[in-house]
Amino acid sequence: MDFSLTREQEMFRDTVFRYARNEVSPLCEEADLKGEFSFDIWRKLGEFGILGLPLPESLGGSGADILTCCLAGEALGHGGVDGGSVLAWGAHTYLCAHNILDFGTEEQKRKYVPKLATGEWIGCMGLTEPGSGSDAASLRTTAVKKGGGYVLNGSKTFITNAPVSDVFVVFANVDHSRRHEGITAFIIEKGAPGLSTGKPFHKLGCRSSATSEVFLEDCEVPGENVLGGEGKGWFIALNGVEWDRCTLLSPLLGAALCNLDLCARYANEREQFGRPIRAFQAVQHRIADIKIFIEACRLAVYRVASAKDRGQMLNPLSAAVSKVYAGDRGFEMASEAVQIFGGYGFMHEYPVERNFRDAKLAAIGGGTSDIMRMIVSRIMLM
Ligand SMILES: Cc1cc2nc3c(=O)[nH]c(=O)nc-3n(C[C@H](O)[C@H](O)[C@H](O)COP(=O)(O)OP(=O)(O)OC[C@H]3O[C@@H](n4cnc5c(N)ncnc54)[C@H](O)[C@@H]3O)c2cc1C
Repeated sequence: MDFSLTREQEMFRDTVFRYARNEVSPLCEEADLKGEFSFDIWRKLGEFGILGLPLPESLGGSGADILTCCLAGEALGHGGVDGGSVLAWGAHTYLCAHNILDFGTEEQKRKYVPKLATGEWIGCMGLTEPGSGSDAASLRTTAVKKGGGYVLNGSKTFITNAPVSDVFVVFANVDHSRRHEGITAFIIEKGAPGLSTGKPFHKLGCRSSATSEVFLEDCEVPGENVLGGEGKGWFIALNGVEWDRCTLLSPLLGAALCNLDLCARYANEREQFGRPIRAFQAVQHRIADIKIFIEACRLAVYRVASAKDRGQMLNPLSAAVSKVYAGDRGFEMASEAVQIFGGYGFMHEYPVERNFRDAKLAAIGGGTSDIMRMIVSRIMLM
């Protein structure tokens, strides 16, 4: 197996890295501290083509493959873009726009994808509910047929981008007795009667992404807004999760690269006991561990991405293995970076503090580490 990048891929990653470092990351500290979605960051990502990266050129995107999307994610994280901004990108591009591209009718694609590709419209995907997270198939939101359309009732929670979204892909069940076979996806536009969002949550990390509840109260949705056909929602949700597991680990890899740069510089500059702290083996080992994580995480992320690029179905075992490894170990390594900085690592002043808080989400969102372990053990014990 050859995981080396082409010259073109390396140049692309470098270009995104420089743009992220020079144009985007200077805006991230304020957005994180305020805990607010930044339309300036959003515009910057849109102008550079990041928001429409995997969407086809004919619909306003760049037509990039999955590995290229991972390279972009890695470069954004490495360039110091905060976890909230990359999370907003992922929910918009992969969970909303790409699902419409994969399952939408020609008319739905023409209507929504071009505006999502540029970032003029912001999108989100609402699957999780207050009573159903890991067991997402047990969602309680109902869709009852009325005339040529449906009436939706229920609520969603923890929905990334919901407070700022123009386009919502939401899941409801048309017949609970069919369990996951009744789950249906609907496209709902902002302003639709009966659709509302809660106040943005205050979060530990990824604070510049706007997260809230979504309420559906007698929300009438026309039949042409069903995405992918009645009863196909569970497959669509899994498709979103697949993209998530493929691509959203790459910014975590990027954040580890960012931390490594920061830690190496700090270890050279900071002196204690009359010597730079790089002289101490405890510090050296932490730096080595972060580098070892980066190498292993990169292999896992690139392997999953290139398999999906070759048209293979995502292997649930390798996707779960890479997610649990990147999520759990990534958080541990983000903690080691804080440790290298000592007390300064505990302060907002250095991005290692933010990277530490942001890293926690990888073991929760898109399937917790426990669920990933459950998948791995089920396959091993079959
Ligand atoms: C910042 C953020 C953004 C998010 N964005 C979105 C979004 O855009 N769209 C969306 O639909 N959802 C989103 N989510 C929801 C996310 O996917 C869920 O939080 C996640 O799937 C876990 O569900 P839960 O929070 O209900 O936890 P629960 O499922 O209640 O789990 C609680 C604990 O129990 C453990 N547990 C549960 N079941 C098992 C089991 N069978 N075996 C072992 N342990 C188990 C879990 O691992 C966890 O430790 C987001 C969440 C966060 C925090």
